[in-house]
Amino acid sequence: MNGVSKVVILRCTDYSEEKVYNTLRNGIGLLGGIERFVNRKENILVKPNFLHSSDQSKAVTTHPSVIKAMLRLLDDAGYRKVKFGDSPAMGSCRSAAAVLGLEDGIYGAAVADMSEAVDFPFPEGTTAKHFRFAKEVTEADAIINLCKMKTHALERITGAVKNVYGLVCGANKAAGHVSFPNATVFARMLTDIHKAVRPRLHIMDGIIAMEGNGPSSGDPVEMDVMLFSDDPVALDTVYCWLISLDPLLVPTNEQGQVCGIGTCREDEIEVVTLDQEGHAEVLSRKDLFNRFGNADFNVARKGNPKSLLGTFSRIATKLSRPVIDKTRCIHCGVCVDHCPVTGGAVHFDNGKDSPPVYDYSKCIRCYCCQELCPAQAIRKR
Ligand code: SF4
Ligand code: SF4
Repeated sequence: MNGVSKVVILRCTDYSEEKVYNTLRNGIGLLGGIERFVNRKENILVKPNFLHSSDQSKAVTTHPSVIKAMLRLLDDAGYRKVKFGDSPAMGSCRSAAAVLGLEDGIYGAAVADMSEAVDFPFPEGTTAKHFRFAKEVTEADAIINLCKMKTHALERITGAVKNVYGLVCGANKAAGHVSFPNATVFARMLTDIHKAVRPRLHIMDGIIAMEGNGPSSGDPVEMDVMLFSDDPVALDTVYCWLISLDPLLVPTNEQGQVCGIGTCREDEIEVVTLDQEGHAEVLSRKDLFNRFGNADFNVARKGNPKSLLGTFSRIATKLSRPVIDKTRCIHCGVCVDHCPVTGGAVHFDNGKDSPPVYDYSKCIRCYCCQELCPAQAIRKR
């Protein structure tokens, strides 16, 4: 990295559309304005987190107020070639958008279908040399990344770096977990996606975040912030500082820095907010935490950064495992149907009368089953 990465943090205490819009406009303004990132001739894809169709109150997806605020800002500024969408792990982009009350025509933007996969060779990739992106990704000139502040079973947190995995089309995501089967190599693959598509701007919805058993079965928690940066690693690092998590324990940060898509070094990150008079104010890490932090945020903090590397990462991965809470399981079979391992690492032993059982000798600990379980019945142990 050369120079300093700026991360803007602004207080926003609820999802009223006007409040979110003003916060978003101020945040992008502190980074130099939207014209710094995209021009009006470009096809723009606004990419939220639609992990799967989920009610906004559960904090699984980027909140619709944040998506609308981004579309409104682009519309107000005269951008006319705008789509928004994500390729969910289950279901369609349109159905996930509809659950959030989003449809074609909001501030002139169209819902991106995101269901057709297009080959995208990437020979310069460090770890991944080829992707199957949703067609709209390959048609976009510029991507704006609207990520959600959540915990994650595989990578501890999901934020700006991880959110780009939704650009990979539908079921191809499951195959990616088999090809990149531990947290470190998976993180390296994510850095290749960043290099391939170079999102211009990253905005994090941390107004209501998710802690605990994320990214879909955790608990909503008020963090009351939005973050803005053109450096995804710096943005996720500031998120870690807010929750007292060592940024280097997060593979997407550690590998993001190693692979050159951003920085997690404190001396290379400038955190900026607005003071009470509406002037830009630079915050030290300590002031940032005192003003916005939450030391009780429920996230995995144990471990040693060295455990992320090579063999240690594989061992650490194998030591954890998904487990099913039999009292919650509704025997729906979603986990069985979506396990990416050939032949399945989780199956029904006794028809659908009992919960499924794991074959841990086959399980690669990708946690797709935990992400997709509709009954919040699967935990990482
Ligand atoms: S059982 Fe779950 S964690 Fe294991 S490989 Fe299958 S989906 Fe991934
Ligand atoms: S997805 Fe969840 S609820 Fe459905 S069978 Fe698997 S563990 Fe049970």
